[in-house]
Amino acid sequence: DTRRLTERRDTVLGASYRLFYRNPVHLVRGEGQYLWDASGRKYLDAYNNVASLGHCHPAVTAAVTAQMQQLNTHTRYLHENILNYTDDLLSTMPAELNKAMYMCTGSEANDLAIRVAKAYSGGEGIIATTEAYHGTSELTSGISPALGTGQPLAPTARLVEAPDAYRLGSTAGADGSELGTWFANRIRAAIADMEAHGIRFAGFIADSIFSSDGVLPGPAGYLREAAEVIHRAGGIIIADEVQPGFGRTGDAFWGFQRHGIVPDVVTLGKPMGNGIPVSGLVAKADVLAAFSDTIPYFNTFGGNPVSMAAAQAVLSTIRAEGLQEHSRVVGGSLLDALRGLGDTHESVGDVRGAGLFIGFELVKDRTTREPHRELALAVLEQLRERGVLTSVAGPHGNVLKLRPPLAFQPGDIDWLVGALDDSLTALYA
Ligand code: PMP
Repeated sequence: DTRRLTERRDTVLGASYRLFYRNPVHLVRGEGQYLWDASGRKYLDAYNNVASLGHCHPAVTAAVTAQMQQLNTHTRYLHENILNYTDDLLSTMPAELNKAMYMCTGSEANDLAIRVAKAYSGGEGIIATTEAYHGTSELTSGISPALGTGQPLAPTARLVEAPDAYRLGSTAGADGSELGTWFANRIRAAIADMEAHGIRFAGFIADSIFSSDGVLPGPAGYLREAAEVIHRAGGIIIADEVQPGFGRTGDAFWGFQRHGIVPDVVTLGKPMGNGIPVSGLVAKADVLAAFSDTIPYFNTFGGNPVSMAAAQAVLSTIRAEGLQEHSRVVGGSLLDALRGLGDTHESVGDVRGAGLFIGFELVKDRTTREPHRELALAVLEQLRERGVLTSVAGPHGNVLKLRPPLAFQPGDIDWLVGALDDSLTALYA
């Protein structure tokens, strides 16, 4: 049956859109942190930060249904939902971040952020990280070397390595500098290289917790020194919160708050509508004005009454259910349990993360830290056999990305960690 569906898919759908797993999972239902396939088999979702409150959360379903029954329309008319939601959203941010705009996908949010950076700086050079993924549009895929978008890097872009404390820890300090200084030096060099090629610097964009770069939390405060360099050079800082945002890191509502800086532009997506397509951009008023005072922007579905109702239900539920604190506590226990696997499995190189956003790095040798990509891929398949769904990240494809819905409970730790333990044992048996 899976084969028949896969064949139908291959016949009628564009081939670029690849599925996870050799034998794809055919899902029919979701609830909380669990998913069910067509044969009735239950899975633990350890991957999905879109259904951040949990799959089919009743608060979102109710809000969307009620609004859909009353009114949904494009965004050329006055409607209160967008204003009420914006007040609530901005109240979660530092006061300087006081203007919002809405669209439907993370790609659109980042695309607009880049346009804002260009308008504000008068430049065109964007700095991103070497394994970044920021979207599918022409502008964003030009700064997204990860996931093989097939798009060449934009000639005006420069890439810097994300600060990987595990891999750089020993060498980054070799010249006496801490990772923050190490990173600021990389930014300085990238700007100098742009200038040498006649490219004016416009801004820096990065995940607030690096995801495709290998689930790297970024050492505390690592951006502080770089932020000064960026601002002095006339560029802006864009924090891509598509993955870490909305309380996932546990210790903060927004990932950038962990780095001790206030970005100029923040982009939002994935968990924002718990599955309803809605994304956003929040910016400092003067930065946004450089774009929005002169350039019209219209997005048919961006900020429509139903999207805003979903987004409002998400914010309200995070508060009502205490999900940020929950993520901190249960994420901490999960991190500890995963680290415990290192006692029995030599291939566990590093386990890191914040809240329910965890990277589990597999290596061939703990001393050389040589990445073990084949093992990570085999573990993914083994986990699937044990009902746990997740994915891999990082330049070497050897980091398991554990990023479950925030509905993940302490009781799920046994399933996840037990399945990982058994998978590693099976692969080394
Ligand atoms: N930024 C990051 C960090 C992402 O992970 C993604 C999606 N994987 C995007 C942007 C693009 O979002 P979308 O797929 O909604 O366009």
